[in-house]
Order: sequence, then C-alpha cells, then structure tokens
Amino acid sequence: MSSATVTVSNIGGSRLTLGFDRFDRLDLDRHLAVHGKLRTPVLEDVVRMAEQVDMRGRGGAGFPFARKLTAVAARVVHPSADQENLLPGERGGSRRPGADAVVVVNGAEGEPGSGKDKVLLCRAPHLVLDGAQIAATALGTQRIVVAVEDDQAARSVRAAITERRMPARVVRLVERFISGESGAVIRAINGETPIPPGVKVRAAESGVDGCPTLLSNTETFAQLAVLTSLGPDLYASAGTEDEPGTTLLTIGKTRVVEVPYGTPLRTVLEHCDVRPGPGVLAGGYHGMWLSPQGANRAVLSRKGMQAVGATVGAGIILPLAEGTCPLGEVTRIASYLAAQSAGQCGPCRLGLPDIVRALNALSDGSGTVADVKRAAGIGRGRGACSHPDGTARFVVSAMDAFAADIDAHRMGGACGLPTFGVLPLPVPDGSEGRIAIDWSRCDGHGLCAYLVPELIQLDRYGFPVVLGTDIPVWMERDVARAVSMCPALALRVTTGIPRSPARGS
Ligand code: SF4
Repeated sequence: MSSATVTVSNIGGSRLTLGFDRFDRLDLDRHLAVHGKLRTPVLEDVVRMAEQVDMRGRGGAGFPFARKLTAVAARVVHPSADQENLLPGERGGSRRPGADAVVVVNGAEGEPGSGKDKVLLCRAPHLVLDGAQIAATALGTQRIVVAVEDDQAARSVRAAITERRMPARVVRLVERFISGESGAVIRAINGETPIPPGVKVRAAESGVDGCPTLLSNTETFAQLAVLTSLGPDLYASAGTEDEPGTTLLTIGKTRVVEVPYGTPLRTVLEHCDVRPGPGVLAGGYHGMWLSPQGANRAVLSRKGMQAVGATVGAGIILPLAEGTCPLGEVTRIASYLAAQSAGQCGPCRLGLPDIVRALNALSDGSGTVADVKRAAGIGRGRGACSHPDGTARFVVSAMDAFAADIDAHRMGGACGLPTFGVLPLPVPDGSEGRIAIDWSRCDGHGLCAYLVPELIQLDRYGFPVVLGTDIPVWMERDVARAVSMCPALALRVTTGIPRSPARGS
C-alpha cells in the first residue's frame, strides 16, 4: 500500500499529522516551519515528562515508555566509567564498559491492516527522527537505527537522515507478520534470521550487537517529539485524564485518523463514513472482535476498550463489510496466521494448524465452538512469542461476536454468504506454495501425514486431508521431502494460488 493511497485526517485537531493538510511530505524546512526546532532534554527530564503523561508504546503492547528508557539507561556504561570502581554487585551481567546504547525505531508493520507508521515515515520522517534523536541524546549515544519494511519508507527516511546529517542508518526488514516483534527486529538488524528468538531476551539488556537497546514503535518516537515540543501540560490538553494525548488509528486499511484518547469508536467510524457491519476487529489480527453493539459502546482508550473486552493495540480498526461470511473471513485470516508462524514452539507448529482445522470443521457443520476454543486454549501462554496467543485471542473473540453466523454453519453446514476475502492480506507474489494431492494416484499410504503432520492428517479411511494454508517457510524442506518420498508420486506443491478460505481437500 502506497502512503499516497491512504487518506489521512483527524478528529479534534492534529499533532502528529500537523501540516499534512498543506504538504504531502514534510522535508526539513517544512518540518521546522510546522514543528519548530528540536529540543533535546536530559534523561531525567525526558523520563519525568513521559511519566507525567503516562506515555505508552504505540506498537501494540502499550509498555510504559519511561520504564523502557530507564531500563536502558541503567545498563549503559559510558567509556569514562571505571568498572574497577563499581561495587561487586554492580559488575558483570550485560553491563559492558564502553557499550553505548542503541536506539531502534521499529518501522515494521507486518500487520496487513496497519498503515499509520508508514504514513509517518513517508510524510513526517523528521518528526520520527526528532523523537529518536531526543531518546539517543538522553542516553548519551549517537547510534540510531531505523528498521523499515518497504522501499517508499526507506527512501523517505534516508532522504531525511541526509538532510539533517544524522549518523543514523536504515535497515530493511522482510515483510512478514512476525517480523515486527521486537526480538525479530533486533535479530534482523544483527544479521540473523528475522524471527522472534525462542527465548525471551530483553532488548534493554542485550539488543543490537549485544548493547542495551531502546526499541520502540515509529509512532512512539513521533509522540515523544510532540511531547518534548509541547511540554507535558499542553500535551495533556488532549485525551483523557488517565490517558492524555492523541493516537493514530488505521481504519479499514485505507484511512489513517489521529484522534484524542477517549474518542468513542462510533465517532471515528462515522467520521470515516464506515458502518460497523456484522462486527469490528479492534487491535488487528492479534486483537479482538467486537459485535456491532460492543463497537457502539467502545471508547478509544485502554480503559474504554477493556470495558468492552478489547484493546486499542497498534490502532488497527477493521470493520467487517456486510455480505461476506464472517466465519469464512476469520478462517481465512487464521489460515494466514498459521502459515506466518516461526515454527519454533509446539503452539506455533501444531497448535495453530489445529485451530484452522477446528475452524474448517465449524464452517462445514461438523465441528463445534467448544472444539475451536479447546484448540485455541491448549497452547495458551506456552508460545515462544505472542503469536500463538494473539491468534487464539482473535479466533476466540470471533466465536462470541459472530454467534448467529456460526449457528447457521452449525445447523446447515454454511450460512449462505460467500467469503469475499475483504479482510486485508499481503498480495500473494506467486511464490507461496500449497500442498496438493493427485487423487488419481494417491492410494492412502499415509506417509505424508507421518512426515508433515502439521499440514496433513489422515481421515478415518486413511486418506490424507490437507490443511489449506500456504506452506510456512520453516516447513518447506519437510514438505519437499514428503513430496519426494510419496510412493505413488501423488503429492505435489503448487504455487501462485490466490489465498482463499482454508478448507480440507
Ligand atoms: S504419501 Fe502419497 S500416496 Fe500416501 S497418502 Fe500421502 S499423498 Fe497419498
């Protein structure tokens, strides 16, 4: 999605999007004219301001920014510090004499429904870089890395870095759903496989090159720049008492809206001329579905969304259009999420395919909601990263939000609506592979189900049932082996198939 195809607007005034009504992109001169000269307060002042307005990360987890900054600062040992003068308890660990902190702007938007960070990187890159500069100066470092996913954002940020002669570098990330997870971003910058590490490592302790690293989302840095420019009192003049400020939302993929915290969701949908349809997804594909009634009551703040059992997350709001099958759409996205896994843990390798199988069975009337919830609950809290839990949350919330549609599937094996595929997914590039079986050859040896149980299981007659997802990257070798070992030469891999609802074949 090009940032030019996204409509940007605001409710109640603009801060991050200031100047967007006049300029497509704020180069340095325009940025200075709109936002003024950069101020770089000392660490204590940055922490105090962030604490005063309870500034949270805008990448989805909502972690307090001041705590993250303080944790990194506590790990930084400047070249002048003498380890010999430290008390024994202060030595060792990951404190490295001379190790500068690294500031990482996480520009990954692996969520197909998100576009707000790319809009900032493309249209207000200096605001993001101001925030990174403020954090870096507070930490006494010049090491800034901006991790981005696409060419347009990379070009914009590189141009801005050149304009302000900033010693920062841009790193390109692969576009995958899990590539924006903080551990995956650090690994990508370090030249490793860009997937979340199997063991949780805090970036503040050991991040880029093993140095203490402050990694935060693009919007978070832009918010830090606005906070520093306005000061905490003026910053808090928008939003609620508990949650001051504004936030960026991506509505239905093609609209980005800046709103003050505390704005009712229905006001935002009306502003965008969008109807809630049969349900609204809040927080993206690791978020939760709201029924139209829930969407009507929802208020855009942590507290307000909690009250209806949802979250603002990374600000992704996806109303489902009328006329498409809700269960088919949910199954389609669950299938995509299963194929996007890193395959590092049981909940990803086996749990996500089980969820898709349970959804397929529910769609054709042979399964139950309890089966889906059981499949979603088995791996809860046991994943190597948040992907299995987030996917389970997305699926389980759909069971309540779309109860009427699911009842129709339970009773008749279908609801009568086609699945149009309206929820956004990355455009297939033709390289995606899927398993197919030549039924004129297959004689039910079952070897394939033994070799790739994640993707193939046997039915009660001993014939293979294929999970209709793209083949995850981590399974490609196993699938190739299964294809080469099929005694009847019945198993093959097809490519270039458009994504459709996952079905057993
Ligand atoms: S290994 Fe080949 S022949 Fe045997 S069940 Fe699988 S596809 Fe059919």
